[in-house]
Amino acid sequence: MRVLALTGGIGSGKSTVLEMFAALGAEVVDADQLARELVQPGQPALAEIAQAFGPSMLLPDGSLDRGRLGSLIFGDTTARLRLNAITHPRIRRRIMEEIEARRPRGGVLVLDIPLLYENGLANLAEAVVVVWVDPKTQLTRLVERNGLSEEDARRRIAVQRPLDEKRALADLVVDNNGSLAETRRQVAEIYQRYVS
Ligand code: ADP
Repeated sequence: MRVLALTGGIGSGKSTVLEMFAALGAEVVDADQLARELVQPGQPALAEIAQAFGPSMLLPDGSLDRGRLGSLIFGDTTARLRLNAITHPRIRRRIMEEIEARRPRGGVLVLDIPLLYENGLANLAEAVVVVWVDPKTQLTRLVERNGLSEEDARRRIAVQRPLDEKRALADLVVDNNGSLAETRRQVAEIYQRYVS
């Protein structure tokens, strides 16, 4: 089995490209979903979070108060690093387990990892595919998709590592500035190269 990792920036078209890979027959692993599962009640990571940041991080039903945790780590680097130390090794381990579980099936596996470079996960795959658009297109598509003001959209883009930097680090780039058909053609070309 050949393992690719897919990343991009908010609104760059990662979900669109992932669907194209899946339609061609690729297996998909959703890193965000694995990350959410790791902080469900009963999971050790959730207990560690409550221990590190206090029981106020939990809602009355025992689940994680994501909003509260998000506000805490937003302006507090130490807290963010502490949270990452709890979650990141587990996310990496879970992704590796998923890869091993699917390996016998062969074909192409695409790891969907939104913050791949930010979280140092590039080495999980044999090649990283970055979905790239120019900054103007990214802003326009994000405003349209999420119904955001331009200012809000800019702010959301600004907290991520710039897409141009990710493109420079990528093994493979899907240029998603053009039509969906043009993007599909690039995705099919990559898929064919790895599926054999
Ligand atoms: P991401 O998952 O990277 O945040 P999406 O795949 O949701 O991005 O794409 C962002 C928005 O842009 C969506 O509304 C999507 O339908 C639209 N979009 C993506 N690619 C194209 C394209 N090539 N042409 C036109 N619209 C696109």
